[in-house]
Amino acid sequence: MVREKYLLHCPGCGRSFPDHYTLDCPSGCDALLRTTYRERRLVLRDLPGIFRYKEWLPVEGHLKVDAGPVSYESEGIARELGLSHLTVTFSGYWPERGGRMETCSFKELEAQPTLLRLREKGAGVIQVSSAGNTGRAFCQVSGLTGAPVVVVVPAAAADRLWTTVPSPNVCLITVDGDYSDSIAFGREVCSLPGIVPEGGAKNVARRDGMGTVMLDGTLAAGRLPDYYFQAVGSGTGAIAAWEAAERLIADGRFGPRLPELHLSQNLPFVPMVRAWEAGRRTIMAEDMPDAEASIARVYADVLTNRHPPWGVRDGVRDALAASGGRMYAVANEDARSAGRLFAETEEIDLDPAAAVAVASLSRAAEEGFIGPDKRILLNVTGGGYERAAEDLDRYPVEPYLRVRAGEAFAGDLQDAVRGWLAEQAGVAIRA
Ligand SMILES: *Cc1c(COP(=O)(O)O)cnc(C)c1O
Ligand SMILES: [Zn+2]
Repeated sequence: MVREKYLLHCPGCGRSFPDHYTLDCPSGCDALLRTTYRERRLVLRDLPGIFRYKEWLPVEGHLKVDAGPVSYESEGIARELGLSHLTVTFSGYWPERGGRMETCSFKELEAQPTLLRLREKGAGVIQVSSAGNTGRAFCQVSGLTGAPVVVVVPAAAADRLWTTVPSPNVCLITVDGDYSDSIAFGREVCSLPGIVPEGGAKNVARRDGMGTVMLDGTLAAGRLPDYYFQAVGSGTGAIAAWEAAERLIADGRFGPRLPELHLSQNLPFVPMVRAWEAGRRTIMAEDMPDAEASIARVYADVLTNRHPPWGVRDGVRDALAASGGRMYAVANEDARSAGRLFAETEEIDLDPAAAVAVASLSRAAEEGFIGPDKRILLNVTGGGYERAAEDLDRYPVEPYLRVRAGEAFAGDLQDAVRGWLAEQAGVAIRA
């Protein structure tokens, strides 16, 4: 038996090893590493937000941040869709139900344990390339804790980065170009010693943080759901749900069966739906025809990831196959009307991606893909923007550096980021 709280396990070669903020198998396997926790039962801690589930997070301490998922038994939309056991797990701002993720998406579930794990492992300062919900979540948790982060985004999208508290430890770099330019520049910034990439789906803290949705929804319902509904872009949240469900099965108190994963994407950009329907382990160019134009047309642009961890061992495809799941392609009009129905019946506004998930649930109920008396967990991955705009302050994140597309990360630019890093070395994170 291990003495450590957890080890990392590679499903490719079967090795287990201690965590040094490790993102890849040291033997080079093409597989997602997993955490294996010493505690096999779900033990709850009397701590705020997601740190209630700390025993199953790859961290030793906790943050004094009260922002976790909240679950409740739906009456409104459940009745509307003719479902008798619908648990909603909500990540966003909804004070009446205890929802305190003030940047309004479940990316805050990821940002909290990621920043804490990084600090505990002494791995350095994190770099994130996202002007969407992920970027905002990292800026917010930086603001709440003082943890330094480097965020690289296209200049045109920088106004999507705001927080509800000042975030003086964010180094925002805007790149005068598109997303690929800012991702490329972000990668270069990580060549500086002391700056590490966030790692996406490979980051176990990200996945276990998102996995708290399955833990919270299962606890609220008293057992594992039969079906789990979520809209996916990278699919990391779905892999996380699968892993959390396996832990709950091993616990023994919540039922023996994996929930079927019912995952949705937004038309016309639906690469995982197409690869699933074609029975392929790789996503091909034909799964993303006119990618740029398609991405521009979707309602929920957080779902437009071109490189999801689909075919990698224990990735999204394996999760779907293991659970006997299903994928849905949702049209904009259907997502919009599902979002309106949710707002009317549950009284909270949804992130467009969450509206896509609601539309898929509505379709599943109509077409009989799910039994009406089965137990359903709906992951409402974001919402409450309208409420947050009424109640909370909003601080735009100001750029620290502005870079031209294709500009090399050298000379003055490097010196500026080094200078910023040196200042951060003196900052203690408020854990
Ligand atoms: C990122 C995001 C998703 C998709 O999550 P993945 O883990 O990337 O599949 C869904 N909804 C919202 C609100 C998001 O921010
Ligand atoms: Zn391996």
